[in-house]
Amino acid sequence: MSVKENLASVLQTIPPHVKFVAVSKTMPNEAIMEAFDAGQRHFGENKAQEIIRKQQELPSDIQWHFIGHLQTNKVKFIAPFVDLIESVDSLKLLREINKQGEKAERIVPCLLQFHIAEEETKFGLDLSEAKELIDAIEKEQMQNIQIKGVMGMATFTENEDQVRKEFKQLKKYFEIIKAEHFQDKDGFKEISMGMSGDYLIAIEEGSTIVRIGSSIFGERNYSK
Ligand SMILES: *Cc1c(COP(=O)(O)O)cnc(C)c1O
Repeated sequence: MSVKENLASVLQTIPPHVKFVAVSKTMPNEAIMEAFDAGQRHFGENKAQEIIRKQQELPSDIQWHFIGHLQTNKVKFIAPFVDLIESVDSLKLLREINKQGEKAERIVPCLLQFHIAEEETKFGLDLSEAKELIDAIEKEQMQNIQIKGVMGMATFTENEDQVRKEFKQLKKYFEIIKAEHFQDKDGFKEISMGMSGDYLIAIEEGSTIVRIGSSIFGERNYSK
């Protein structure tokens, strides 16, 4: 199956209120252009160097989502163009995004990444850490950041109940933060959850953004 065909069949399973990000990490420009020519505009990358290069080489109307661990020294390169940083997981990073947003004269949309998986290795905040970040935004008057919601990755497992439980947890975090900090703010509305293996469950549990890579572009080959 081609990228175009994969895209069409995945899109059929996604309801219109859910945004779809094609995760193009490690994939060549040609594959991205195939999806672009089929109408796809949101793409996700998890390495700063790669998103910077692709942004320079590919059409300017692509909306780039950064979905990986972001080092503070790379923020200045992506703040001018990134559509959404989905992976904010520390105060240090948040401050740097705000600073670089100010320099670039724009408000950088961000999601707070939560740790919902069983695995120790995955990045992300817990609820009290997330609240600290939001308090800091208010206290330090960071005006070049907009928190638009939450993001999380479920455990990589065949166990559907486990995955569903973790997505429910993320939705709950979203609702708590919404109620305590963004009650009257329509901009706080995104729950980014769901990848190739689990996005249908994520949508059932209230996802508003799914991030799908291998079902569109095929398996990634990290060795090359
Ligand atoms: C790679 C990646 C995805 C996409 O994973 P697939 O299983 O290929 O769909 C989604 N979200 C994040 C944060 C990723 O790093």
